[in-house]
Amino acid sequence: MKSNIKLGRISGIEIGLHYSWFLIAALIVFSLGEHFRQVYRNWGASQIWFVALFTAVLFFVTLLLHELSHSLVAQARGLKVSAITLFALGGVSQIEGDATDAKTEFWVAIAGPIASLVIGFSCLVIAVGLGWRRPAEPRTAVTAILVWLGYINVVLGLFNLIPGFPLDGGRVLRAIVWAITKNADRSTRIAARVGQVVAFLFILDGIWQFFSGAGFGGLWIAFIGWFLMDAAKASYAQGEITAAFQGVRVSSVMSRDCLTVNRAMNLQEFVNTSLLRTGQRCYAVEEQGRLVGLITPRDVGAIPRERWDMTTVREAMRPLEELHIITPDTPVLDALKLMAGNDVNQLPVVANGTLQGVVSRSQLMQLLQARSELHLPATHHPPITEHG
Ligand SMILES: [Zn+2]
Repeated sequence: MKSNIKLGRISGIEIGLHYSWFLIAALIVFSLGEHFRQVYRNWGASQIWFVALFTAVLFFVTLLLHELSHSLVAQARGLKVSAITLFALGGVSQIEGDATDAKTEFWVAIAGPIASLVIGFSCLVIAVGLGWRRPAEPRTAVTAILVWLGYINVVLGLFNLIPGFPLDGGRVLRAIVWAITKNADRSTRIAARVGQVVAFLFILDGIWQFFSGAGFGGLWIAFIGWFLMDAAKASYAQGEITAAFQGVRVSSVMSRDCLTVNRAMNLQEFVNTSLLRTGQRCYAVEEQGRLVGLITPRDVGAIPRERWDMTTVREAMRPLEELHIITPDTPVLDALKLMAGNDVNQLPVVANGTLQGVVSRSQLMQLLQARSELHLPATHHPPITEHG
């Protein structure tokens, strides 16, 4: 989730909005405006919309406070936080690196819901102090804002405490399982599985409500369930990947049968003699024994076909300076992050200026596939042997 609009920095953390946030902000303003119009018949149109807009802005501030609580606790416990992004369904804190102990995980996760609950109950207490009595509608604009913010923050705090990944409660559950079992990977998978069950219940409940006449509200619950299901599945898959490649270095998984190609060859020749014969995805271009670039079918495809016989491999390749290079010692998990962050499918592995091999996403996924077909436990690693 990348932010589209940057708002500034707090404690070194970049605060941003994703476009989808405006959708939810507009929904909130309109539903609030509609609510005020029905309850406060003596309010003018401008007052209604001003109060609705102001409430939405304050809601945005409380959401930000929820995320900031996660982030500031993470910072205090030595984790780096790069950004907070607010989107349609809440916020995400980009915390670099995972918590290294269960205690940190627990406090980072629970800080957000605690913030929401404290904000929510404070708003309600202040509203009561200003004369609001449940269940009557608040009489003034100030108490109307406080009561709405109060309820929504309490609901948000409780909702986030539901114990299923990727909700905060899922992380709290993970931290507790982690503390008991002393196994971080297993606790991730357990929290993700519970998340899938929770998501499934949401979908069932949403469909049930839809057919018993709740209409849009039912669909909304089912939609949240569907979103949670997706996120829980992704968390589970991520947990599997992390477990499978934990502590594994690039040198033990890279493919070493890298072919080299003559840099002076033209593309037509290259396609005919190499690409269409071997099906290899990646070729090293060398100059006096040193790697100067890589060329892939993608790079060749980017050149119009009628120019293939007048373009050399050297002209079409990606020069070394533009490539993200890793060394044989790079952890596989870092390589995966680098590929995802830069939207590339393979990385050249270089040592002392020469190409040692290539790591590609598809090859790593095939490795995972092979593991799952062998029914190996996620933490089983073969003894690392050097070959090639
Ligand atoms: Zn949270």
